[in-house]
Amino acid sequence: MNYFYEFFPKRALQETIVLRVEQEDPLPEGDYLLSECYCINVNCHCYNTIIQAQRHQQNRLEAPIATMLYCWKKPLSKHNPFLLADAQQTPWAETVRNMFCEHLESHPEYSKMLSEHYKAMREKARKLAKINSVCPCSSGRKFKKCCLLR
Ligand SMILES: [Zn+2]
Ligand SMILES: [Zn+2]
Repeated sequence: MNYFYEFFPKRALQETIVLRVEQEDPLPEGDYLLSECYCINVNCHCYNTIIQAQRHQQNRLEAPIATMLYCWKKPLSKHNPFLLADAQQTPWAETVRNMFCEHLESHPEYSKMLSEHYKAMREKARKLAKINSVCPCSSGRKFKKCCLLR
């Protein structure tokens, strides 16, 4: 899985969704950034996106409050999105998931944007695999021997 902002830093700045939480909500107040991670394994067609909700406070990002797996190809349900069991969660994770579901329901264009990001990630992964380039995750290794295999 690779972060959208690793591959497209400028686009991620403009297109990553931020959910505003007000004081009266049952969550710590602030701006919640929803970072996107995509599966770019050329042999996999899972269409899964990992959404990491992180609060943005005084110019820095806090540790993830919730980590969700969402398949934009499938309809919204009790299990889509779901909280990833082996990822970083907090006591607020379920509330964040509900807030995310509400956002998905009221913004059908959001899932469409995720599908476009997925396509862009895949295309870039294919190009990087062809040209022997350095991996965008800044590991210093070749892409072919790094994130392409993950
Ligand atoms: Zn996959
Ligand atoms: Zn890498």
